[in-house]
Amino acid sequence: MSVDDRLAALMSTSYDLIVIGAGPAGLAAAWRAAQRGFKVALLERADHTGGMAASVDVAGIRVDQGSHRLDRATPDALLADLHGLLGDDLQLRRRTSRIRVGDQWLSLPLRADEVTRRLPPSLLARIAKDSAAMSFRRGADDSYGAVVRGRVGPALYDTVYGPLAGKQWGVSGDALSAMQAHRQAARLSAWRVAGRAVSQVRRKKQATAGGYYYPRAGFGQLVDTLADAAATSGVDIKLEAEVDRVRVYEDEVEVGTQDGDVVTGGLVFSTLPLPVLARISRPAPSLTSIESAARLRYRAMLLVYVVHEGGRWSSFDSHDIPDPRTPVLRISEPTNYRDNPADPADHSVLCAEIPCSMTDEVWGLDDESLADLVDETLGLTGLPAVNRVHVETRRLGQVYPIYRLGYEDDFTEVDAWARMIRRVVTLGRQGLFIFDNIHQALLMAYDAVGAVRDDGRFDRYAWTVARERFAKSATHP
Ligand SMILES: Cc1cc2nc3c(=O)[nH]c(=O)nc-3n(C[C@H](O)[C@H](O)[C@H](O)COP(=O)(O)OP(=O)(O)OC[C@H]3O[C@@H](n4cnc5c(N)ncnc54)[C@H](O)[C@@H]3O)c2cc1C
Repeated sequence: MSVDDRLAALMSTSYDLIVIGAGPAGLAAAWRAAQRGFKVALLERADHTGGMAASVDVAGIRVDQGSHRLDRATPDALLADLHGLLGDDLQLRRRTSRIRVGDQWLSLPLRADEVTRRLPPSLLARIAKDSAAMSFRRGADDSYGAVVRGRVGPALYDTVYGPLAGKQWGVSGDALSAMQAHRQAARLSAWRVAGRAVSQVRRKKQATAGGYYYPRAGFGQLVDTLADAAATSGVDIKLEAEVDRVRVYEDEVEVGTQDGDVVTGGLVFSTLPLPVLARISRPAPSLTSIESAARLRYRAMLLVYVVHEGGRWSSFDSHDIPDPRTPVLRISEPTNYRDNPADPADHSVLCAEIPCSMTDEVWGLDDESLADLVDETLGLTGLPAVNRVHVETRRLGQVYPIYRLGYEDDFTEVDAWARMIRRVVTLGRQGLFIFDNIHQALLMAYDAVGAVRDDGRFDRYAWTVARERFAKSATHP
């Protein structure tokens, strides 16, 4: 780009707000800000919007990037907005998920009667003993392993939560922060109810209510309609625009992309991973912050889509697999999440989720080897064989923040720096290093836009209050 072109680009692209990343958080923020009359640019690295919540086409079926559901606990006001965008396409669905425990499949949410009927006698005896020993009291809280053992007992920890932690985060539960356990409070209490039933302390049929919202044409329909609404409200959406520079000046921020484009604006909302923001920001953070940022790690995920010929493969939406003999954590069947007459009747797609590190051997396997791994997993866990006619894979580099023991110090250091950057606000899953769900990402975006004053200045105090509220809801669902 010549100097004149660069100057022309700079002159013509001055925005009130630049949003980096068109996942749910970025889309919602851009849409709401444009509705308020701000001039907004939305920069996205990929060739499509939606981030991790986008759906893709496999064999003519819309499939998600791993099992996605909209939580029943989505606040009414947000739900009303989503109904406004999706209309009747936002369906309320009954959950038909299962989890493998020992050599049995149990329904999720757990049903105490099923737990007592199905679990192997040896495991039941251990659960009953744990419960009788009152080990479900809140005990040590210095690690994920300690908290979860204290909440559900050692037997269930060893059978379900320990192996799940190892697969999902790649480290032992004892090497994870207790924060990770607080994120799973609802699931843990479901097991506690089941455990009590086993020990005859209390009998109850249903541990927690099931049900979720899901759009007729795949989870990604939700982010697609958000993107349409944003574009209709005037947001300037730029795809294949990978941001590699954020330079803050006294009066504005300059955001540069890999292909040399430069966009300027008064305020930036960044949903970039915090370590990336730390790396590309100018002025740069202190060496201490850079070192802390480098220690914040994310888990990657490999998604294997296997096309099954001959109708539906199962009647369930998803299968959770703690079994440590396979790296597959969950297998879902996207067409079972919705009632969509447009879905084909003669074939279906299975989606296998493999959390891993990008340096793991599994990350480099070819499609057929990965499909074989899925086949092996089906055999190991007693699931029906798949009549495979095609396989496709997707690789997501940064999916789950890893809350290793002591991560809080590094996060606090980097977050303190990020909060001080003038005219830049971080939000979203990667921006806040938080294990959020989509409704929480959307609410964050709403709050961030709510903190922008009419004159375009950002109310840091309102944002701090919102963040505290958000942190509470994210750790105590
Ligand atoms: C397997 C799995 C299952 C899940 N299940 C559920 C569920 O059941 N229910 C639920 O509510 N949530 C679920 N989630 C979480 C949900 O996907 C996230 O809460 C949501 O996507 C977070 O949105 P976000 O905008 O913060 O981040 P993201 O979706 O990660 O979006 C960030 C965006 O930034 C873009 N970006 C990154 N770097 C750059 C760059 N340099 N320049 C420009 N753009 C960039 C990315 O391409 C991406 O589009 C699940 C997630 C996963 C992975």
